[in-house]
Amino acid sequence: MKNFKVLIFLILWAVFLCACSKHQEKTYKESRESLHTIVSITVVSDSSDKAKSAIDKAYNELDRLAKLLNFYAEDSEVSAINRHAGDRPVKVSAETFEIIEKALYASRNTEGAFDITVGPVVKLWDFKNKVMPNTEQIREKTKIIGYRHIVIDRPASTVFLEKKGMQIDLGGIIKGYAADKAVAVLKANGIKSGIVAAAGDIKTFGKRQDGSLWSVGIKNPRQKSGADEIIAVVNLSNQAISTSGDYERYFEKNGVRYHHILDPQTGQPAYGCRSVTIVAKDAAVTDAFSTGIFVLGPKKGIDVLNRLGIDAVIIDKDGKVYITDGLKNSIELMIKDSPFA
Ligand code: AMP
Ligand code: MG
Repeated sequence: MKNFKVLIFLILWAVFLCACSKHQEKTYKESRESLHTIVSITVVSDSSDKAKSAIDKAYNELDRLAKLLNFYAEDSEVSAINRHAGDRPVKVSAETFEIIEKALYASRNTEGAFDITVGPVVKLWDFKNKVMPNTEQIREKTKIIGYRHIVIDRPASTVFLEKKGMQIDLGGIIKGYAADKAVAVLKANGIKSGIVAAAGDIKTFGKRQDGSLWSVGIKNPRQKSGADEIIAVVNLSNQAISTSGDYERYFEKNGVRYHHILDPQTGQPAYGCRSVTIVAKDAAVTDAFSTGIFVLGPKKGIDVLNRLGIDAVIIDKDGKVYITDGLKNSIELMIKDSPFA
């Protein structure tokens, strides 16, 4: 009888230990430079080794994509496509093909406001050194912009730019696309929840350690003080969120703000919005549409988003805030007079 009691005690003790070790989950976070920005990866895991190894692999994936898709490096696949513009189709990897397909989807749904063939005009501007091209230079380069002149062949996995001088720049979609891929790597390595934040392009999956949703802040595009002022927080799980803003890369001359989100029609910065935040399943979609809707402006932008069922917070050029219906339950606003659109 005594032995039997001891056995029962040992079994219960073993069950208790198992139950405890299952709940030994911790949150691991790292920030490193990749994709020419700071990328933070956060994961929830019951093992520090598993978390560290998965995070390393996710950064390797980000670096691999950054190299493949770099607009400014001669040896990237993007540069190979650009070099052969007006000449011949170029065979590319599955990833290069996929990101261009996703970019074209965004172009078709934003009346071409999102257009990766803005490359030649992007190269004319230098926001760091306050270099502003003259109107003649801009006119010359905008003539060759046009996503309709990108010819893709899925079976052959080729991309062809029809006009000589055309150049694709994936800067408006690469961070979101890479965040999606990094999350896929984390999942493939046994991670059930986490968040990959490539600057303003963020992909979440699963829930936080305490079971709550991931919270992502939206910055006030016109900061009053030096601190990072947040105007709203969006709570998410298994969704992506991207913000494009005129405060990210810009310079001012004679009271005019010249920033990095360009209208493909004019080659000049777009002036309908201060910032556009998009929430959707894929970060490639949120990244491309935040840039595209920024160019399209709030009125047309809201129409497009309603048609596609994509959520957004738009702050227009006068500071008016538009929020789509789908976000009303998952957003916490820190500002008072902000009408829902
Ligand atoms: P984002 O910060 O995601 O809004 O992307 C801005 C970057 O995308 C710029 O730095 C350019 O490289 C590129 N870009 C600028 N304007 C456009 C546009 N209208 N369509 C697509 N890409 C753009
Ligand atoms: Mg973008």
